[in-house]
Amino acid sequence: MATTIAVPKSMIPGGSFLLDERRPDEVFTPEDFTEQHQLIGQTAEEFAVNEIVPNIEKMEHKDFSVTRDLLKKAGELGLSSAEIPEAYGGLEMDKVTSCLIADRIAKYAGFATTWGAHTGIGTLPLVFFGNEQQKQKYLPKIAAGEIVGAYALSEATSGSDALNCRARAQLSADGKHYLLNGEKMWITNAAFADLFTVFAKIDGEKFSAFLVERNFPGFSIGAENQEWSSEHNAEDHLHSLMADLVNNRPLGVAIGSLRLALGIQ
Ligand SMILES: Cc1cc2nc3c(=O)[nH]c(=O)nc-3n(C[C@H](O)[C@H](O)[C@H](O)COP(=O)(O)OP(=O)(O)OC[C@H]3O[C@@H](n4cnc5c(N)ncnc54)[C@H](O)[C@@H]3O)c2cc1C
Repeated sequence: MATTIAVPKSMIPGGSFLLDERRPDEVFTPEDFTEQHQLIGQTAEEFAVNEIVPNIEKMEHKDFSVTRDLLKKAGELGLSSAEIPEAYGGLEMDKVTSCLIADRIAKYAGFATTWGAHTGIGTLPLVFFGNEQQKQKYLPKIAAGEIVGAYALSEATSGSDALNCRARAQLSADGKHYLLNGEKMWITNAAFADLFTVFAKIDGEKFSAFLVERNFPGFSIGAENQEWSSEHNAEDHLHSLMADLVNNRPLGVAIGSLRLALGIQ
């Protein structure tokens, strides 16, 4: 189902379009949508009107079972996998498609934030930087809305200044897995997410990311919905990190620090 944009446009760097003269045909407008774009836009619109809007009251009262159900339905409709490769159960569509879905889903900001964190920061680190084993294990379930993703970078003392994070990762004595210690804050979807991309510094130095499942021993969610803390030394953890270890490549370490954390946002 992969698609390309209707009219190839020249790449205009950054916000230069605000300052430089541009011809109208260089600007992408809704008139450039393909039939496929329009169809998926319509699907997203109907989903928003028929499924999200009638449930706003429940979600406002933190009925997360409703949120989870809606994420599952969105997955089944293909609304959560535009940026996931077909090889891992996604639709592998273009950015226009993602923007179109996001625009239609934004009828209710609460769910739009949940969906955006799940499909964006909760999924893309794995799409871009995960190894084959990690992608095969998680992406099809993420695409289907069966598991929900979250992104855990911020801490009480490091927001914009993310590289100052205090969370630490240390290789276990037997060299088979990493132990994570630290606390994160403001983590969208933390109350009900299944898979967290958690940022920490290996030996307090090398900034990297780890895939942490909600049920790993030692992992806990704080009293507030968007906080969690972790004192984590699970054998289970080994499954996602063993591969990293074998390849000498924890998510992100090989590609440098900030690109993984901030390139996604
Ligand atoms: C709704 C919501 C959802 C969020 N979800 C997530 C999530 O899912 N995962 C996650 O990890 N985090 C999440 N966050 C946290 C978010 O990423 C941080 O709030 C953000 O990084 C800013 O950090 P801070 O709030 O500590 O602000 P600070 O870093 O303290 O910044 C405060 C102000 O100072 C400015 N500032 C900071 N440094 C400089 C500088 N060097 N020069 C000039 N100005 C500067 C900033 O622009 C800002 O205006 C979320 C936040 C919100 C509000």
